Amino acid sequence: IAKIITIDGPSAVGKGTMAKRLASELGYHLLDSGALYRLVAVNALQQRLDPNIASDAEKAVQNLHVEFDDDKVYLNGTDVTTKIREENVSKAASQIAVHASVRRALFAFMQAFVKLPGIVADGRDMGTVVFPHADVKLFLTAVTAVRAERRYKQLSKHAKNVTLDAVFSELVDRDARDSTRDEAPLIPAEDAVVIDTSVDTEAQVYEKIMQTVRL
Ligand code: C5P
Repeated sequence: IAKIITIDGPSAVGKGTMAKRLASELGYHLLDSGALYRLVAVNALQQRLDPNIASDAEKAVQNLHVEFDDDKVYLNGTDVTTKIREENVSKAASQIAVHASVRRALFAFMQAFVKLPGIVADGRDMGTVVFPHADVKLFLTAVTAVRAERRYKQLSKHAKNVTLDAVFSELVDRDARDSTRDEAPLIPAEDAVVIDTSVDTEAQVYEKIMQTVRL
């Protein structure tokens, strides 16, 4: 049976980096569930659909043709690898993720993704809703100021007009939407190992994750 490792947590906590590293070290497949919500968001924005309106969000998830090829992702034939990381897409993704119909549509896709020898799935509800029987569940946390700082550093490499204040308040908004929505709100699974990444270096966090996975 394929092994399943889940890594959940809020935005900019380091899940993506850790999930990628872990998957490559173990030779597992990586399921970046946030990318799926981001793809639905791009599809919505391109079709001038409103991510806040349920019926619009449903249209955006229906005619979705997605291809993953190494590190690149294509939406209806177009390379959207960089586009899905833009701030307006991050915001639209967290708005679109509120709708139960969208979550249900992606649920089937994610369950079908499980492959030998195993997968590392990163997101918000991997350990609670999508893979409740996962072999190992991790939940990463960090104080908002630290996460905002990290996201700011990342974004300011590519965009010039970003400010730490704006990044901070966007993050607070997205956290609030993710934590208070009715469908799959962000909470650690009861059996998740919680790791705080506020002070540790990337190497230290990875070491803690490996210790948990080896158990
Ligand atoms: O993880 P990432 O920032 O790429 O996710 C983008 C958005 O998708 C999040 O803000 C969240 O609202 C949503 N999401 C979700 N459930 C997941 C993964 C992401 O609701 N499993």
